[in-house]
Formats: sequence, structure tokens, C-alpha cells
Amino acid sequence: MTILANEVDTAIFNKSAASCSWFSMSFGFYNRGLPELKLDKVAEAEFPTRFGQFRIFGFAGIRPTETEEAVVLTMGDLSPASPAPLVRIHSQCLTGDVFHSLRCDCRSQLEIALDKIVAEGRGMLIYEHQEGRGIGLLNKLRAYELQDQGLDTIEANEKLGFAADLRDYALPAAILNYFKIEQVRLLSNNPEKVAALEKAGIRVVERAPIIAPELDTTTEYLKTKRDKMGHLF
Ligand SMILES: [Zn+2]
Repeated sequence: MTILANEVDTAIFNKSAASCSWFSMSFGFYNRGLPELKLDKVAEAEFPTRFGQFRIFGFAGIRPTETEEAVVLTMGDLSPASPAPLVRIHSQCLTGDVFHSLRCDCRSQLEIALDKIVAEGRGMLIYEHQEGRGIGLLNKLRAYELQDQGLDTIEANEKLGFAADLRDYALPAAILNYFKIEQVRLLSNNPEKVAALEKAGIRVVERAPIIAPELDTTTEYLKTKRDKMGHLF
């Protein structure tokens, strides 16, 4: 996914200016169970990858204050009559997904998720254009700078004025509704993601963990996710 410089600037401005109201609005979405979000499918095509043959979709989630984008890869029969599919909701991590960064485990999680979907011959990856748990690409790099000075990933986000996690999952829930998928086996270590999807009306019948091999460079990051964010692995 290409990020234009002006998009990044706008995202930083919008999110820092509106982070408080945006975050509290997201709880409103969950409480009502229906996201205030208009979903547009803008494209659909065949998508051969080195993992396997997928279909690729482009979606726009239009909210009153902003438009969020997501790319969806699907494989196999996802019709409502078929069993709950494996689903991975992955937040874009340019540094990990493209450059194979060893500061985080995102790329490993992405590869494990795609391998598991391909092994079953069916499933879905929802790839959200939400860098750095929603703070934006350049802010994530600023957070890395603070982490180099000794802060952990949550402390760094908070020092920059952001909540630890700005994601609300209204867009993935709307996408699952679009495909009429009511039940999923969620590929995730994050219990909050399970709770958020359930509040949005998607039944998580199983949480399938994704355990990326721990490296010297990811030990602290994974420890913070485990100890401070409740991730299970
Ligand atoms: Zn990452």
C-alpha cells in the first residue's frame, strides 16, 4: 500500500487533533453494536501471491470525519453456510511488512496467518491501513526514537500524546458483515480484538494464536504486549 506524503501529514494532524473525541466515539460504536461507517467496495480482482492464489478487494470505510482504507484477501468458500473461517485482522506495519523490521513481530504474524489460511484452503486477511496501532507512520518512527531512549512502546505512544491503541475495529466488522460472515476463528493473540469484534456483532468461536519466534530485537516489544496490553502468547 502506498502512502503519499500529504496523506501522512493529514493523518498525523487529524489524529493528534481529534484523538480524544475519536477514541470516545469508537466506544459509542460498540455500545450500539452498529458502526457509524459507510462501507464501499471499490475494487475486486484475482491475486496470485507466493503464498497462494487469493482474490483481493479494496474497501473504503467512510466516517463523518475521515475515510479509512482496507485491503482484503480471501481464499476458498466463505459462504454463510460454510464453517467459521480463519480470519486475520492485520494492521499495516510498513517497517515490518515491507522492510522485514526486527523491532516488531508484524511481518512474522502476517506470514504465519497467510500460511495458515493457505493450509486450510480458505480464510480471510483484512489488512487495515492503520500504521502503528493507529498513530500513523511518521509518529510510529517518532515513537521508535523515544524507544531508543528507553521508553517502551506504550510509554512512547503516550509521550507523543496518543492512547496506547487507537484502533476500534469498526471497519473489519463492517467488512465481515459485507461477506455475511457471522462467525470467525480469529488469528490473534489480542483478547481486546476478540472483545471488540464480539461487541460489533461478530461471533469469535475460536481464538487461534499466532506465535512468532522471539528474537533478541523483539524481546522487549513482546514483553510489553504481553505484560501491559494483555496479549496471550
Ligand atoms: Zn510492526
